[in-house]
Amino acid sequence: MENISFFDGRKIPLERHKVRIVQKLKLIPVEERLVRIKEASSNLYLLHNKDIFLDMLTDSGVNAMSDRQQASMMRADDSYAGSESFYRLEKTVQDIFGMEHFLPAHQGRACEKVIADLLVKPGDIVPMNYPFTTSKAHIKRCGGEVVQLLIPEGLQCQSDHPFKGNFDTKALAKFLEENKDRVPFVRVEAGTNLIGGQPFSFANLKETAALCRKHDILLIMDASLFQDNLYFLKTRDDECKDLSLREITRAVADQCDIIYFSARKLGFARGGGICMRESELVNPLKELIVLNEGFLTYGGMSVREIEAIAVGLEETMDLSVTSQGPEFIAYMVDELEKRSIPVVTPAGGLGCHLDALRFVPHIPQEQYPAAALAAALYIAGGIRGMERGTLGESRDAYGNETIADMELLRLAMPRRVFTLSQIDYAIDRVTWLYENRDLIGGLRFKREPKILRSFIGELTTLSDWQEKLAEKFSRDLPNSL
Ligand SMILES: *Cc1c(COP(=O)(O)O)cnc(C)c1O
Repeated sequence: MENISFFDGRKIPLERHKVRIVQKLKLIPVEERLVRIKEASSNLYLLHNKDIFLDMLTDSGVNAMSDRQQASMMRADDSYAGSESFYRLEKTVQDIFGMEHFLPAHQGRACEKVIADLLVKPGDIVPMNYPFTTSKAHIKRCGGEVVQLLIPEGLQCQSDHPFKGNFDTKALAKFLEENKDRVPFVRVEAGTNLIGGQPFSFANLKETAALCRKHDILLIMDASLFQDNLYFLKTRDDECKDLSLREITRAVADQCDIIYFSARKLGFARGGGICMRESELVNPLKELIVLNEGFLTYGGMSVREIEAIAVGLEETMDLSVTSQGPEFIAYMVDELEKRSIPVVTPAGGLGCHLDALRFVPHIPQEQYPAAALAAALYIAGGIRGMERGTLGESRDAYGNETIADMELLRLAMPRRVFTLSQIDYAIDRVTWLYENRDLIGGLRFKREPKILRSFIGELTTLSDWQEKLAEKFSRDLPNSL
């Protein structure tokens, strides 16, 4: 490993890049933040970027590009068919994953759409270590169901299990014995998103793959968050620690039949694609790509992004690049834990996740504690996180709330974007909020969409708690924005 230690013993993440292009940030005063959150109906998706100081909503499409990525975009070869840019990306993907075919798509969910259209029929069930919102939505759209078979530790917010994203392979074995005729494929998600960016181990992946082979069922990996899982395989998994990132990636890919990814995350740009070996599925999938995404040499992506993804994927094979996200997240998680603030442990990829069930235990899940916490943190610091809880679920057929397994506020760490002092600021504002957590109250819908309600739904507070919180902030930090 390429370690750099501090002589004075401190353990803080050190940026392994320098900043050449900057974007100005503005922190509006707390009184104005209160107005903006009201205007946005307490839904942080409805805020304008100019009113946000630290945007920790997502890592999707907002990772910093490198100088080499920017340079590659200048030589993009724009053509409807046969673009040289595409062939460069195809070759990179083939080198890295060792699979023959690469089918481009405009983003991750587009890959999920065509895979579900081809493979899922009514009555099917797709086992997953854990579902992701869009993966599940496309399977259900095709009449299928998903079954979550995660190890029990995965749903415990506080744990020291290094691989909380592992499949419960005993449960999977039993499930496949009993239901194999209804299983079109098994989906394994790298860097499992909704449980806090938690990885699987290599041994667990091999067991999962062996079960699939035994029953002649496809294993499909969602590699959108593979970058973080790769880092944890290198740093936590004895089986992988002496291998290069490239060797680990190839070993992982060798276990899978199909790999798809969102290049809004993996590859530091915007796009997506499906990698697969030669099989009778290649041609029908290609047809669906042409129908839904565009011709096979762009798949809905701009050629400039295609060039940037090719370079971004290569950079992902460099540990001093791949380590940046998880090291910053670990720093934030450690600092919050020192202050006894409830966070998901061990630190995962993607972001730092606050455990709202313990942060605001007085707010019932029907009043969306993670969403309330998200609105409160915007008031406290102009920071935008993402609710990952009951608000993000949808109602059942009878109109009842589906209570989420976890209530998390995710503070995403877009790769190479924030400096350490900005993270210290976020830690400070979360700490202030924790001291004042009793002031935070619940939310209810005033306009509730039927589909993906958390994105555009409008909420209102159950009391004047937001005003009280803003007043308390002004009293506690009278000379600060
Ligand atoms: C983001 C994400 C997707 C969807 O990708 P988009 O590019 O946003 O469509 C799918 N799976 C996982 C695990 C993701 O994190």
